[in-house]
Amino acid sequence: MKKNVFVFSRLAPEHLERLRAQFNVTVLDPKLGDVDAQYAAALPTAHGMIGVGRPLGAKQLAQAGQLEVISSVSVGYDNYDLAYLNERGIPLTNTPDVLTETTADLGFALIMGTARRVAELDAWTKAGQWKRTVDTPQFGVDVHGKKLGILGLGRIGAAIARRGRFGFNMEVLYHGNSRKPELEQELGARFCDFDGLLSEADFVVVVVPLSDATRKLIGKRELELMKPSAILINIARGQVIDEAALVEALQEKRILAAGLDVYEKEPLGESPLYALPNALTLPHIGSATHETRRAMAECALDNFETALRGERPKNLVNPQVWKG
Ligand code: NAP
Repeated sequence: MKKNVFVFSRLAPEHLERLRAQFNVTVLDPKLGDVDAQYAAALPTAHGMIGVGRPLGAKQLAQAGQLEVISSVSVGYDNYDLAYLNERGIPLTNTPDVLTETTADLGFALIMGTARRVAELDAWTKAGQWKRTVDTPQFGVDVHGKKLGILGLGRIGAAIARRGRFGFNMEVLYHGNSRKPELEQELGARFCDFDGLLSEADFVVVVVPLSDATRKLIGKRELELMKPSAILINIARGQVIDEAALVEALQEKRILAAGLDVYEKEPLGESPLYALPNALTLPHIGSATHETRRAMAECALDNFETALRGERPKNLVNPQVWKG
């Protein structure tokens, strides 16, 4: 008998077809109205769930008594109540590696974009303000040769550090839970304590997972430790930075600029960030290229199908619950 699966975010038609060939598929459709009612109808018989972008914990999953796996089409898994999944013994899979280089590209785009004020000066040019040769009001700051501080030298952090070290001759500083001797060797990276990294780096790139330990990791105190000439980049999760404190720091020019892909609340909606020329704001597009979104979906499908066959999937977030 075919198993029942619930798709809780958009999948490309070919990926839905792939699922339909193997399972009875129900797709959540917010356009049909009451999302909770759709969960309530589908979950009691669902063996698997696949998707991204919706919080999943006891509130949504209490009725999902048959659930064998949740496959997230993302590397970050802060939307899932992991303690609850562990208690229930529900395996969760994610999509590491396939999005690393693409997200690092975007991190570097934010570095370049803030330093050279790309979006701001594009708007200025198109508004007809370019009347004579530019002067100091339009100048930016150099990227090459500067100190690149990576907060979280994991997969994506290391990929950004490589771009900085080998593409832009930057000195790499990092802070994290542990030392990374191989990356220190490869990149000449220097481990710093948290405050040391903030006060020394010209670019502070935040690329840690969101957890209780990293929520509001960067607040008023941390922003005050940064140099007035420094730039903050956040491609991790919005909640890692106290956004009100950041807005204040940017308004008062206590740091030079911020490049942001993620926000405390998404979509961003009304925000004081819009009025700030020194804030470069992108709509959470770290992994959003055609190639990488396809690769992420395929990785998530591989994990999902493997787990539903009863075999151990490649990317288990909570391997301790796998009963294989
Ligand atoms: P990863 O390989 O697990 O790397 C995370 C790094 O953060 C690890 O090096 C870890 O250090 C470090 N870390 C964890 N807790 C920390 C703390 N309290 N203080 C300092 N460092 C800490 O993950 P990844 O694949 O690089 O992804 C990182 C995050 O990026 C994801 O969780 C996701 O939220 C975000 N992301 C965003 C986008 C986007 O669209 N903007 C796209 C992809 C990913 P240790 O190794 O020492 O534990």
